[in-house]
Amino acid sequence: MALSATNGTGRYRGRFAPSPSGPLHNGSLLAAMASYLDARAHHGEWLLRIEDIDTPRVMPGADRYIMQQLRALGMHWDGTPVWQSERLALYQQAFDALAANGRVYGCACTRQELPPEGAYPGTCRHGLPPGKRTRAWRFRVEPGTERYTDRWHGPQEQDVLAETGDFIIKRADGLWAYQLVVVVDDGDQGITHIVRGADLLESTARQRVLARALGLRYPEAMHVPLLCDETGRKLSKQNHAAAMDLHDPVLTLNKAWQALGFEALSVPDCAAFWDTAVERWDGRWGQTPDGV
Ligand code: GLU
Repeated sequence: MALSATNGTGRYRGRFAPSPSGPLHNGSLLAAMASYLDARAHHGEWLLRIEDIDTPRVMPGADRYIMQQLRALGMHWDGTPVWQSERLALYQQAFDALAANGRVYGCACTRQELPPEGAYPGTCRHGLPPGKRTRAWRFRVEPGTERYTDRWHGPQEQDVLAETGDFIIKRADGLWAYQLVVVVDDGDQGITHIVRGADLLESTARQRVLARALGLRYPEAMHVPLLCDETGRKLSKQNHAAAMDLHDPVLTLNKAWQALGFEALSVPDCAAFWDTAVERWDGRWGQTPDGV
């Protein structure tokens, strides 16, 4: 049976989950826009979650700046935003629950000791090699193929154990790993639909198996295209993509809109942009495979 997302209210709940490692750029706007439009077209809620779990990458003040950027583009979130850094107890609870079910083990491997690519070979799966100590903690993946349908990319399948192997949920630097916190947060917040960039398509199978192990329903997912620079590289903060230009917000919105495959809208302001864009989005993506 396919997992079908629900938050008990039967209502669509989406989210935008930026990492505050810098201001939003034209690439991150695509994910923000698509998740906003999908939520509004479904008369749902759109939550804002600041993913500041990876503290070394956090740029002080970027969270507030991102909120200003969203407001300047006429994008309004529902409820109060959450910060992952304030939710550490939840992640610990999830970790403890997995550990109690024998789904977690300590791993002593350093990056240098692992193959440069491919799945984790399972070196510490049956216990630490003599004289070694735990550095990171891994989730024990069960054999099997994960199958699901991405709303943009269609049917997907991945053998997580073969392709990724047991993956890290608590890092050697003591921080919770993205894969764990995103699953816990989406579950805890009752998210029914994930809309985000295609770079995370490949993480979805891992997140689904983790969600199942935690007894959480995994949301419907849609992975929208990434914006690339002239050299074909994904626009990202690590690649020093420029912050969005907010002098002409409608122009900035139209660029992201066109990158999502639509024709530019000739509208006077942001409010009119969103009204029209929501209708067009609904016409194209209004029907989800399983509904909510
Ligand atoms: N925080 C992630 C990012 O900024 C997004 C995570 C997600 O949407 O699942 O790339």
